[in-house]
Amino acid sequence: MSEKRDYYEVLGVSKDATEDELKKAFRKKAMENHPDRNPDDPKAAEKFKEASEAYEILSDPQKRSSYDRFGFAGVQSDFSRVNARDFSTISDLFSSLFRDDFMGDDLFSMFFGGRQRRRPTGPQSGSDLLMNYEITFEDAVYGTKKVVDVPIKKECTECNGSGAQKGTSPETCKNCQGSGMETIERQMGFTRYISQQVCSTCRGKGEIVDKPCKGCKGSGRSKENEKIKLDIPPGVDSGFRLRIKSKGEEGRLGGGRGDLYVRLIVESHPFYKRQGDNIIVEILIPFPLAILGGNFTIPTPYGPEKIKIPKKTKEGSILRLQRKGIKRKTSYGMNYGDFLAVIHYEIPERMSEEEKELLEKLKDVMPFSVKQENLFKKLIEDSKQYEVDY
Ligand SMILES: [Zn+2]
Ligand SMILES: [Zn+2]
Repeated sequence: MSEKRDYYEVLGVSKDATEDELKKAFRKKAMENHPDRNPDDPKAAEKFKEASEAYEILSDPQKRSSYDRFGFAGVQSDFSRVNARDFSTISDLFSSLFRDDFMGDDLFSMFFGGRQRRRPTGPQSGSDLLMNYEITFEDAVYGTKKVVDVPIKKECTECNGSGAQKGTSPETCKNCQGSGMETIERQMGFTRYISQQVCSTCRGKGEIVDKPCKGCKGSGRSKENEKIKLDIPPGVDSGFRLRIKSKGEEGRLGGGRGDLYVRLIVESHPFYKRQGDNIIVEILIPFPLAILGGNFTIPTPYGPEKIKIPKKTKEGSILRLQRKGIKRKTSYGMNYGDFLAVIHYEIPERMSEEEKELLEKLKDVMPFSVKQENLFKKLIEDSKQYEVDY
C-alpha cells in the first residue's frame, strides 16, 4: 500500500474547513469513487475507503483535534477498530460508518436504494416484482379477469444477455480470475486485516465486457412489456396481493424467474363504502316515512332491495340486510358480510304547494305534547300566586 495521504488532502479541504464543508467534500468524493459507479476503475474502491476514513476522523471533533495534534498516530486505532469488522462489501463499510448521517438522504438512497444481493457464481433466480394495480369498487366486489402490461427486464436479444457487442464476448476478469470475489489486506499498526469482498473490477460478475452491446448498454437486459393475466377473486380489498408465480424478473445463468406480486388498490365509490366485509350506505328518506314507517327501495351491488323502514325510525338508525355485503372465499369457506343502511332525514329545503298545504293541516291538528301541556298549565297556575302590582 502506498504512503498514507493527509486527511485534509484526501478530501481536498483546508485545515480550518467547517463541518459542512467536510460533509460536502466527502459526498463529492464518495460519489466520484463509489465502486458501484466505477466498475472499470480498480483504484476507485481504494480511493473511496481513503475518503471514508478521512471523513470518519475529521467529522468527529475529538478525533479531528487529536489528528491535528498528533497526526495518524493520534487516531489510527479508531479507524482500525471499525475496519476490523469483516465487511463483505464497500457498501457495508459505508453504511456502517455513515448510516446515521445519510439515512434518507439522496446520496444514501442512490447507493442503497433497491440494493441487490450479489451472488457472483452459479444460477441466480430473478427478483420478485411488485406492482400496484387499481380496480373499481365493482370489480373488487364481483371479481374480474384483467390483462395488464408489466414491464419486465428480459435477456437482451441482441447479445443474448452477455452485455458484449455482437461478435465480441466478455473476457474473464483479471483481478479475480473470474471468481467475482477479491481479498483485501490492510496493515493497521501491528495487525493485518483480511477481508473478502465483491470484486471491484467486475462487480462480482467474474467477467469484463470490453465493448458493451448497443442494445442494452452492456447490462445484458432490456425492458419489455409482457401481457399478464390477472384473475381477481370476488371480495378483494385494497392491499390484497395476487401472486403470479414465475412472472417476475428473469434469472441469470439458468436461474428461474421470480414471482410477480400485484397489490390491488380499490377505488372509492361515491355511494358504497366498505367496512371489513360489510357495505355501508347513507340514505336520506322523507321524514314522514321515518315517522310512519313504510317500504323503501335501495340499490345494492347485487340489485335493488326493498327495505322496511319501521315506524318512528330515529335519525342515524342502521338497517341491516344480512349477507348482502362482501362475499368472499376464505380458507373456511364462503364469508358473507352485511349491507348496512344508515337512515337520515331532514327538514326539506323546498316544498311543493301541496306539501305545504298538507303540513299546514298537520300543524292545526297536531296537539302539543301532553306532558308539556300539563307542565305549562302548572307553571301558569303557580305564577298567579306571585301576582304583584307594579
Ligand atoms: Zn445487449
Ligand atoms: Zn473480477
